[in-house]
Amino acid sequence: MAVPYEPAGVPALNLRAQYRTIRDEIEPVVREVMETQGFVMGPEVANLESEIAEYCGAAHAVGCASGTDALLLPLMAIDLGPGDEVITTPYTFFATGGSIWRTGARPVFVDIEPDTFNIDPGAIEAAITERTKAIIPVHLYGQAADMDPIREIAARRDLMVLEDAAQAIGAAYNGRRTGTLGTVAAFSFYPSKNLGGFGDGGMVATDDPVLARRIARLRVHGMEPKYHHHEVGLNSRLDALQAAVLRVKLRHLDEWTVARREAADRYRDLFASHGMDEMVRLPVERPGNYHVYNQYVVRVPASIRDDMRQHLAERKIGTEIYYPIPLHLQPCFASLGCKPGDFPRTEAAARETIALPIYPELTEAEQRYVVGAMHQFLHERAHPSLFTDRAA
Ligand SMILES: *Cc1c(COP(=O)(O)O)cnc(C)c1O
Repeated sequence: MAVPYEPAGVPALNLRAQYRTIRDEIEPVVREVMETQGFVMGPEVANLESEIAEYCGAAHAVGCASGTDALLLPLMAIDLGPGDEVITTPYTFFATGGSIWRTGARPVFVDIEPDTFNIDPGAIEAAITERTKAIIPVHLYGQAADMDPIREIAARRDLMVLEDAAQAIGAAYNGRRTGTLGTVAAFSFYPSKNLGGFGDGGMVATDDPVLARRIARLRVHGMEPKYHHHEVGLNSRLDALQAAVLRVKLRHLDEWTVARREAADRYRDLFASHGMDEMVRLPVERPGNYHVYNQYVVRVPASIRDDMRQHLAERKIGTEIYYPIPLHLQPCFASLGCKPGDFPRTEAAARETIALPIYPELTEAEQRYVVGAMHQFLHERAHPSLFTDRAA
């Protein structure tokens, strides 16, 4: 009789599994960079920039040191500063708000849609003032925000739209890839992103040649040509080693995305077959969206979320909470004057979400183990009435 396979555990992310599949392609390109001893920018970076631009259908792409800088540079390039406001979501990684703050401008938060966790376009208009200069929608977890109404508002009010596409390279909205859905877009190559380097890295994409040139200058201390400084920029260059690795990985990105989507489908089937649809709310892919599942985030009642996480951890199943403290409640933004209750959908999401293991190499056996462990926990502990946010 077949013994059911029980994995020793399932990590939240397994980069080693991916590395094993591409080691033979990576090693020669890394060796090549070491032979040239050209480590900063150079041809590998220029080639990656053209390849990313082509990949997302943008006219220009500019490499930089991180996804955070890929957000900061476009804001610097529109001379954002004290007195200005930028509208964004409080339910995101810190960098989205931090980059606005760094320029001296003020983040203005707008609550999310409860099903996609992305900024609610219907609430943006009310947050616009004469000081508003830009909107930063975040394509959270790998699904594009609802960009048509956002672009429409921005065009009417003459605002820049900066896509925070850190988690969403390869995602599409009505047939167009992220990177071309706003004025300018920021990508991150942090190792846990769908296209992850061997360290930090980022890229800006845009169709606007003037903006692209300004951003390229800002990343090298506002310098053009050498030792002529037109403005004070950053040192935010991309390393040749990162670019060489990322160029290899970019060739695999679409197949990895398909594997992530297959894993998402398998989770859906497994939750349904365990009769858990009621207690565990699964990610929703909106019609017209192509979700790339940087994260597979489910919702469970807040009263059991942390215990469930503990139950999974005891079975060596890695999970994560994205994000336990929304930006409007972070101590560093206290002077904005926000308080608990200001963004109820965001706060409910912060209490109820849990990110399950997802990566292209995740196996069906591992997923069965994860869902089985959740089923066991819920069977003992939970009831649908535990959900508190039905009205949100
Ligand atoms: C990762 C991430 C960033 C920042 O990228 P880094 O490369 O880590 O600086 C910004 N926004 C979101 C939504 C992210 O997930």
